[in-house]
Amino acid sequence: MKSASDLGIPLVGIGLLYQKGYFRQYLNVDGWQQEVYTENNFYNMPVKKVKDKNGKPLTISIQYPERMVDAQIWSVNIGRIKLYLLDSNLESNSAQDRRITENLYGGGLETRIGQEIMLGIGGLKALRAMDIEPTVCHMNEGHAAFMALERIRQLKKDKQMTFEEAFGTTRASNAFTVHTPVKAGNDEFPPEMIQKYFTTYLNGLGINKNELLALGRVNPKNDKETFKMPVLAIKLSSYKNGVSKLHGEVSRKMWSGLWPQVPIDEVPISSITNGVHIKTWLSEEMGNLYDRYLGPTWTEKSLEQPDSWECVDQIPDEELWRTHQRNKEHLIAFARKRLKEQIQRRGTYHTELNWAQEVLDPEALTIGFARRFATYKRGNLLLRYPERLVKLLNNPQRPIQIIFAGKAHPRDTEGKEIIRQIIHFANQYNVRRRIIFIEDYDIDVARYMVRGVDIWLNNPRPPMEASGTSGMKAALNGALNMSTWDGWWCEGYTQDAGWVIGAGESYEDLSYQDTVESQTIYNLLENEAIPLFYTRSADNLPRAWINRMKKTIKFVTPQFNTNRMVSEYTEKSYNPAVIRWRHLTAEAMTRAKALAMWTSNIKSNWQDIKIKDVNIEVYETPENENDPEVQLKVGSKLNVSARICLAGTNPADVSVELYHGFIDCWGNIQNGDAVEMSCITFAENEGEYLYECQMTCNKSGRQGMAVRVLPKNEDIANPHELGLILWEKPSLG
Ligand SMILES: *Cc1c(COP(=O)(O)O)cnc(C)c1O
Repeated sequence: MKSASDLGIPLVGIGLLYQKGYFRQYLNVDGWQQEVYTENNFYNMPVKKVKDKNGKPLTISIQYPERMVDAQIWSVNIGRIKLYLLDSNLESNSAQDRRITENLYGGGLETRIGQEIMLGIGGLKALRAMDIEPTVCHMNEGHAAFMALERIRQLKKDKQMTFEEAFGTTRASNAFTVHTPVKAGNDEFPPEMIQKYFTTYLNGLGINKNELLALGRVNPKNDKETFKMPVLAIKLSSYKNGVSKLHGEVSRKMWSGLWPQVPIDEVPISSITNGVHIKTWLSEEMGNLYDRYLGPTWTEKSLEQPDSWECVDQIPDEELWRTHQRNKEHLIAFARKRLKEQIQRRGTYHTELNWAQEVLDPEALTIGFARRFATYKRGNLLLRYPERLVKLLNNPQRPIQIIFAGKAHPRDTEGKEIIRQIIHFANQYNVRRRIIFIEDYDIDVARYMVRGVDIWLNNPRPPMEASGTSGMKAALNGALNMSTWDGWWCEGYTQDAGWVIGAGESYEDLSYQDTVESQTIYNLLENEAIPLFYTRSADNLPRAWINRMKKTIKFVTPQFNTNRMVSEYTEKSYNPAVIRWRHLTAEAMTRAKALAMWTSNIKSNWQDIKIKDVNIEVYETPENENDPEVQLKVGSKLNVSARICLAGTNPADVSVELYHGFIDCWGNIQNGDAVEMSCITFAENEGEYLYECQMTCNKSGRQGMAVRVLPKNEDIANPHELGLILWEKPSLG
């Protein structure tokens, strides 16, 4: 939202204003995470109530089972744009309903669905109450997916449309960003629960219970299947993306069940890699340095002229190092202060307080590890071989030190166990000056850490990290990343900048993976990072290290920032979606209605479309190739024709394609290419058409080809949008 404001993109955000939010973390003497929920005082926060024409707080009402729930709307200014937050804590609601917006990630499934109805349906109602008419809706995560249903309902009612008409129009102008591949992060509800919450709502939608449930199921025919929020969002959005290139791939695979006959690389989920807001995360001192050597307009230039970042080379080594050292000292002072508070709260002895003043050494190689303690992030990987780590920590000439921070989800016992292991480790091996844990990780702690550490360590189990963003925050401040081959790092890594732990291999035996990857970290530290950090020039500068810092800053900052990210969303999703919305809704919804009619026609005729008489003819063979075993040679030219029975549809409604590529050992074509075939003439029988194309065999090896038919219409975003595809059996060549 900060970048949308910077770039002048007209958007508003919608969320919930939690009375208590997420918990505050502290650890008991044993290192076990304790959670306290403190109440937010909205009147001390930069939020204000949205008022109606008469100056009274504006409220909306949302249907819940057998009751209405009221919500008020708060607004937050984010630069020049608004974030609206809904709050159900109103006296007109029952005690239970007042608590719908009490906690983030709190309660059970009932709370969850209650919150998601508030966000999705309430969110859209709030916009309407404020006379804001969205052209495009972007659902970030499946949590917001009910919004798409409310859009259909409103459109249907306002414009007297059928469900199908409103559905197609809504989908054309919705965008969805899929997030974590971790199962617990993808909400799903039992069918009975959807039925309970949506019985009344169905009247407004004009579909029945089973039709609604089908929208949230991978297999619409399976009545046992749960209702999945990401599935609802996928089915109701034309523009879908993951948050890094690798995550795009993982998501296409993960959701390929929704497109059963479509090759995985064609599953219509693209990727837009995350970024961070530079001005939020860059230290003031480092910002001044950039102003001086890149020119004061460097933030704007970072988008238009990524080359301008070459000027980072002109920053004198000693200035960059001095600036970094100052940030490191700020971090250490902050850590000592926090540690002292932590000790005082635990009520331990005075000698301990002195200890807090002395932890960490501003001259030692400092590693930061801060993130949620979700198990896949492996917060304890570095502790796997204690002797090896302790040797590095206690090396008198070349010590390392590690600062940890992060919360485990209140119900994630395994995650809490990892935190406890870190505390126990520090005590057991008497390395409490060199391993510290800062409690209550939040943006403030994150800011100190990403600005002050030398190495940012990130070791999730590939490919579970959708993107990861903290490494970007650290990189733009000059920290070197050491990360497994996962998420954004597959794009952010460049040689002689940071380090890769492993090569993204997947393992059956997870414990073996932890062994291999932890050893890789020790090796990288021992053989690369530590010598590089402690090799100093005559003026005590680690020149080679500083060189890596510059490479990192130059490579990461211009790419992994939110201005680039928001521009990419605008280009790839928002702008095309706005155009489609305008086309479909123009002239009393003419094209929206035509699209629905066309869709219904092509669906009802699809099973009668047939591919017949595929004929492959070689019309030119290269000479000097006489191996009788090989049927087709590289350089051979082919003419492929097929008769297609189009049943009740026309050549304009479909594209007939020749799909070709390598054949795997199961006889399937892998990552093939499609060539569109042209409609030549009518064939002999009515409704049959002759299609033809020429192609040249330009790859060696076992190749296959198959004719396929897909729907075609300029008002669908993607040929796979309707989920219709017809294949001829592949033939080998
Ligand atoms: C950046 C940030 C995160 C996300 O970091 P990841 O690298 O994606 O795990 C989480 N919490 C806070 C407070 C942050 O600042």
